[in-house]
This record gives sequence, structure tokens and C-alpha cells, in this order.
Amino acid sequence: MRITAAVMTAPERPLQVREIELDPPRADEVLVRILATGICRSDLSYIHGKWPAPLPIVLGHEGAGVIEAVGQGVSPVRVGERVVLTFSPACGRCRPCLEGRANLCLDAAAGLDSGLLRDGTTRLSDGATRIHHLAYVSSFASHAVVPANGALPVTGELDPRLACLLGCGVTTGVMSVTRRANVRPGEAVAVFACGGVGLAAILGARLVSAHPIIAVDPVPHKRALALQLGATHAIDPADGDAALQVRAIVPGGVDHAFEALGEPDVADQCFRSVRDGGVTVLIGQPAMGVKAGFDVYDVTQFEHTILGSNMGGAVPALHVPQLARLAAAGVLELEPLVTHELPLDRIAEAIALAESGNAGRVVVVP
Ligand SMILES: [Zn+2]
Ligand SMILES: [Zn+2]
Repeated sequence: MRITAAVMTAPERPLQVREIELDPPRADEVLVRILATGICRSDLSYIHGKWPAPLPIVLGHEGAGVIEAVGQGVSPVRVGERVVLTFSPACGRCRPCLEGRANLCLDAAAGLDSGLLRDGTTRLSDGATRIHHLAYVSSFASHAVVPANGALPVTGELDPRLACLLGCGVTTGVMSVTRRANVRPGEAVAVFACGGVGLAAILGARLVSAHPIIAVDPVPHKRALALQLGATHAIDPADGDAALQVRAIVPGGVDHAFEALGEPDVADQCFRSVRDGGVTVLIGQPAMGVKAGFDVYDVTQFEHTILGSNMGGAVPALHVPQLARLAAAGVLELEPLVTHELPLDRIAEAIALAESGNAGRVVVVP
């Protein structure tokens, strides 16, 4: 079938929104009509060549939609199902999957590198040119063919503009707090950088009744949004060393500090704002090869833990539907995260907005 998609042909070149061909779903695959897709920092990392991508490729890894057709071996009752797409559908056989860590599935990692679906081919093409998939998703398009277990059923009561955020940013932020760091009620939390993921971490901290919840961001309206979503304090790093400001609010330091930007300097501020025996959680992803420093003495003497967080340690098939129910019930307040909504043919504008640092989540609707 002919679909509309935003095709990336080279780093730093504008995505081309045009018609391309999408083959029907094969065995264990489904065809999804995309209803909404978020723009995540990882998409920007590919666009700017910070991370390698097999080219040409259709980006987008934060999508929600509705199943329109199924391949062999998939129950036809799934047609019409509302879904969120995941870039880490469990293969169920690799070591991380067997350990309940589907976010680290080795098969999904291989799919991310190759740009192919599980059978080693693509469903996307333009004439004789094969076009690659991004991480089994490729949601910057009107339609996508994905693995059947990568299309996670979610309640139809949740607006797709909000549901799509569960494909990456919101799940990453919330679960970094609730699962990866396992923050308990009454523990003190600081969140450094209040973009989509950082604000979601604040939502997660509120969900588990952390207290206080300290937001750190240089942009005034992001601090205001953080306070609206549940932060008890907001700090401007321009007012002086952010770690010292955090320690002025919580003497001795917070139990958990979350870095949601991917900057070594900010990771250092997190590390210095945590109490003895506390935990620094690194969520933000820099370009590959970026190094950060920390005081080894502090790690050993004070049993300071540094945790990496990939999608918050979520098992997407388990946790995405759960978060969707919480969001539909209004317990997880996602509406304020979305500040802009643009059609697919204006994706260049959407990307510029996402990069400006002034927007919340920018959502694209085909
Ligand atoms: Zn696996
Ligand atoms: Zn993402």
C-alpha cells in the first residue's frame, strides 16, 4: 500500500515527507495506522548523526495507533485494537528477557542496529530502494508494520496524543523512579532537567509519594510546569551550584537524584546532591563515547550507587498498558506534557520546536 512517511536520507538533511510503499504484514506482524507520534531526543540524535542509523530510514519510536490488519499467526480479533508501539518487544528467549528485563532485549538491540524487521527484511521501500525501520517502530508515518508483540494493547479511553508518549519518554521517566530506582514513599528526590522525560520522572515521584520532589531546570516555564505536575520545590541552576541548592532544601542530600538530559556536568551535579548511601540515576542519553567523572572515594566510602536507566527498566508489555490505565484514570497527568501538535507534513517545524528547548512534548498527527 502507499503510505505517507518522513524519510531520512542523510544526517543533517531535512526529512522528506513523501509517499512510499509499505508491504503487508508477514507472519507475526501487524499493520498499524498511526494516530499520533511524539518527537523524542533520540530521534534528534539520529537526525544530527550523533548516533549511526542505517539509511534511508523512517524515524519515530514513540507511536500510538490502531491495528488495521494482521499477518499469519496473529488473531484477527486484534484488528481495531488501540496500541502503543514499543522499540523493545521481548523476544522471550535472550538472557535479559528471561531475567524480566525486556527493555534490554538482545533481539530488539539487533533490530535497532540493522533497521530490519525480525525476518531480516524491510516492509518499507521506494521503487527499488529498501527503506529501513527504526527499532521495529518507524512512527513518523501514516502507517507502520511492526512485530505483533511490539504493538501493545492499551485502553481506548486514552487519547492517542497522550498514549504515544508511553512508547518512550513517559514510560522512561516514570519507571526510572518507580522501578529502576524503586523510590519509596517519603524519600527525597531531585530531578535535573525538566524536558519530557524529567517531567515524567516528577510524575513518577508524585505517584509513589516521594517527598520533597525538587525540580532543577534553567527555563522558568519548565520549572513552573514541574511545580504544577507535583514538584514541591524548583531550582534555577543559574542561582548557584544546583547541588548546594538541593542540599539547602534537604540537609545531607536527597535519597535519589535523576539526570534527564545526558550532560556530564549535570550528572556531576546529581552525584553531589545525593546523601551518603544514596542513588544517582542516569536517564539522559548523550552522544556515544561521552565520559563523565565521579569521586571514587565517595562511591566506596559512602556506598553511593550510580544506576543507568534504559526505559526505566520497564517490561513494556507489562508496564505500558498499566501506565495507560493510570493515565486514562487521570492518576498520571499527561495532558500538560504536550505543548504542540502538528501534522506530519510540518514535521520539520515540529522537530525545530522539539529542539528549541522551549517546548514540552511535540506530537505529530498524520
Ligand atoms: Zn529478548
Ligand atoms: Zn525516545
